[in-house]
Amino acid sequence: MAQPLNIALFGAAGRMGREVVATVRESPGFRLVAAVARAGSDGVGNDIGAIASGVPLGLALSSDPEAAAKAADVLVDFSTPAGFTVALEAARRAACAFVSGTTGLDASHRAALQAAAGDIPVFHAANMSFGMAVLNRLTGDAAHMLSDDFDVEIVEMHHRYKKDAPSGSALHLGETIAAARGTTLRKSATYGRRGEGARSAGSIGFASLRGGDVAGDHTVIFAGDGERLELTFRAGSRRIFANGALRAAGWLATQPAGLYSMGDMINALK
Ligand code: NAD
Repeated sequence: MAQPLNIALFGAAGRMGREVVATVRESPGFRLVAAVARAGSDGVGNDIGAIASGVPLGLALSSDPEAAAKAADVLVDFSTPAGFTVALEAARRAACAFVSGTTGLDASHRAALQAAAGDIPVFHAANMSFGMAVLNRLTGDAAHMLSDDFDVEIVEMHHRYKKDAPSGSALHLGETIAAARGTTLRKSATYGRRGEGARSAGSIGFASLRGGDVAGDHTVIFAGDGERLELTFRAGSRRIFANGALRAAGWLATQPAGLYSMGDMINALK
């Protein structure tokens, strides 16, 4: 039997991190070899299995990124933009593959990802679920097929704790539409609306709702005269993101250095 893939997890004590811990535990092809939290945060030194699901795993939550990356085949990151930077640097130094689902990244983070891709395989997805990747593909197809007369609005809803808005997935959908229309989000995005003024032609509108424990809903609306096309994906639980991250880790471990996305993984499956 093939050896399990060694996973180091960044942001392990967070909501997504705990879900990944539970998913790895149930996945024979993967083994958790390191769980990392920010230095000084609660729980460092305690068993990550107990933190995640109340059942000890025999692995302590650490605050040592370098040791974690050295022990791993793939470093998986669900943390914060600052944590992402630390994780990416550690993965690059240890020459281990890097999968990140952290959102709220800016141009400097993306440049760092691109630079690291010269040395190691790196994978970033603002939404790790397979259904969301399909929504993105369908959105691109619809934007190609429908004329610019169709106004585009993207509506997303997430749980009350989410810090960034719009969601990384909503922005990714917007980028897909902008690319299909030969423009950029920088030129075409409108974030939220308040007060007076008509919609500007060609704009891509974003609306963000927050509340409850919603794992993640995204709807893309193409509104024409007399007709409206709506594409919706609803995430039922965080487990789908953890499953997707492990699927990406397994796939990435077989890839050469480079920058990869969910779209690349889907295309490789065909
Ligand atoms: P969270 O706040 O519950 O957890 C984040 C964790 O990262 C915290 O435990 C924090 O202590 C830790 N952290 C911060 N800096 C760190 C560092 N330097 N080293 C190690 N750990 C560090 O947030 P969450 O809900 O788990 O989400 C985490 C990230 O994943 C967010 O950016 C979120 O938007 C994103 N997310 C992505 C997907 C996806 O499919 N790509 C799905 C859900 C959430």
